[in-house]
Amino acid sequence: MKKDETIVHADTQLARIGRSFQHIHGFINPPVIHASTVLFKNSEMLEKEAQSFVYGRHGTPTSQSFAEALCVLEEAKGVVLAPSGLSAITVACLSCLSAGDHFLVVDSVYAPVRRFCEGVLARLGIETSFYDPSDSTEISDLFRPNTRAILFESPGSLTFEIQDIPKLVEIAKARDLITLMDNTWATPLYFRPLAYGVDLSIQAGTKYISGHSDVMIGSVASGPATWPALEKTRRLLGLHVGPDDVYLALRGLRSLGVRLARHQTSALQIASWLEKRADVTRVLYPALPSHPGHALWKRDFSGATSVFSFAPLCNASPRGHRRKIHAFLNALQLFGLGYSWGGFESLALRATPQGRYFREAQTSEQGLSELIRLHIGLEHPEDLMRDLERGFSAFHKQSE
Ligand SMILES: *Cc1c(COP(=O)(O)O)cnc(C)c1O
Repeated sequence: MKKDETIVHADTQLARIGRSFQHIHGFINPPVIHASTVLFKNSEMLEKEAQSFVYGRHGTPTSQSFAEALCVLEEAKGVVLAPSGLSAITVACLSCLSAGDHFLVVDSVYAPVRRFCEGVLARLGIETSFYDPSDSTEISDLFRPNTRAILFESPGSLTFEIQDIPKLVEIAKARDLITLMDNTWATPLYFRPLAYGVDLSIQAGTKYISGHSDVMIGSVASGPATWPALEKTRRLLGLHVGPDDVYLALRGLRSLGVRLARHQTSALQIASWLEKRADVTRVLYPALPSHPGHALWKRDFSGATSVFSFAPLCNASPRGHRRKIHAFLNALQLFGLGYSWGGFESLALRATPQGRYFREAQTSEQGLSELIRLHIGLEHPEDLMRDLERGFSAFHKQSE
């Protein structure tokens, strides 16, 4: 789908895209079509599937409106929708990997992807290696003759390493590898993987796109080379997303620009405040000049979102440390304790990236064993900082 060249700003684009069906009685939003069967005029037409929509699983005006909107945003040849972010990643992997292939994945990948590689791909005869996110240009050492594809996630989950995506793509393309990227943190508003030559751009729409903690959905946007295999794999696997969820995701997309702007200023304010505290050793947020990947982030991204980790200063034993982190989290009144992020409300959790599900190539970096991950929501940042003060005070009071 072609971009409207008269639209310069993403916020304007967000208000216009995915509205081919607006001519339906003049309503602005697409109808929520609950459908399995689509009727054909006659048997010959049915046999040739000679109409725009042929069966609920293969799309409706509702799903097409959302896919079309993402297609414009991602500057893609096509977009496949999936029932969760994780299933978007798995369909993307299955569209390009076969028995006997070798798959390279960043070591700081969203942990369930590691379990998919080890629990499903391994069983299908596809071997996965994990590369160090903080040294991503050394990736060539891990290549094998049968390496087929490489999955990036930048910044990395929990530890937020920024990778040199243009360079990685260049290395991958020189070897004819297929490149996949989980771009959930930045969204296509702050980083466009396909514009950097990535083949498959994956989004957990569950997070910022939906934005209200009430939907599970995923998408894979594809460049032209990988599109036929991706669409075919979705078809063969029978993936489908319910129309209410698609509708909510499209509705969320409309306000993505303004929400991200607010998430960004609040997150930067809170991250800077945390960094200045004597009782914090590190803040892992790419928008901070102290972040090791800051220069790369600044070069490639047009913004930062609101998820980051920090390490409170602690000299206790690992057990005492853990107890103090739990005390911090339990004292919070505004930050909810729960998985996911990207919604309007702030969230916090204990993150242990060195745990056995998380890291393989890199396990020894100092100061990453006990982190608190925050998602800064749309509340006022001053209220959130007061809440974090409560956490610090409980942290210091908690005996080891
Ligand atoms: C949450 C998340 C996913 C998975 O999304 P779901 O919709 O929860 O399946 C994938 N990648 C990243 C980076 C995530 O944070």
